[in-house]
Amino acid sequence: MTKRYFISACLLGQKVRYDGQDCLIKEIVEQLLAQQYVSLCPEVHGGLAIPRPPAEIQQGSGLDVLHQQASVLDIEGEDVSQAFIQGAYAALKVAQDFQVTDAILKANSPSCGSHLIYDGSFTGNKIQGDGVTAALFKQHGIKVITEEEFLANLSSLNS
Ligand code: SF4
Repeated sequence: MTKRYFISACLLGQKVRYDGQDCLIKEIVEQLLAQQYVSLCPEVHGGLAIPRPPAEIQQGSGLDVLHQQASVLDIEGEDVSQAFIQGAYAALKVAQDFQVTDAILKANSPSCGSHLIYDGSFTGNKIQGDGVTAALFKQHGIKVITEEEFLANLSSLNS
């Protein structure tokens, strides 16, 4: 089956990060045809501004946030959980409408991170877990990898 991708918007060069910057990975753009993927920033689609204060999941993972058992707080203490959840469902709708099979999501983000996320202390420490959007995608059978895994797979293919 041909793969169809969802890609974090910041990885495609869109300046949607909390700090108003992007995280362009040019190899993704070079490897995939435009008709093979859809893209969106869950946090912006959840209603958050660019730029915005950084936010991290507190005492839990994205799955816990989806189950209302953990919160996402920004560094100023504002609870932005609902924006993160709304953004995740907006991303899922776009992905399902496009029949996405795979997602390349930005590592470590409280929305897009998979396997590892920041621990809520705003110190750069990481813990095991998925961001809110990554957790929702996995729940719905979409295979999620980080941009780091994408690049590692690419170099193993080319070696
Ligand atoms: Fe990138 Fe995802 Fe953060 Fe948006 S929510 S800036 S797409 S990592």
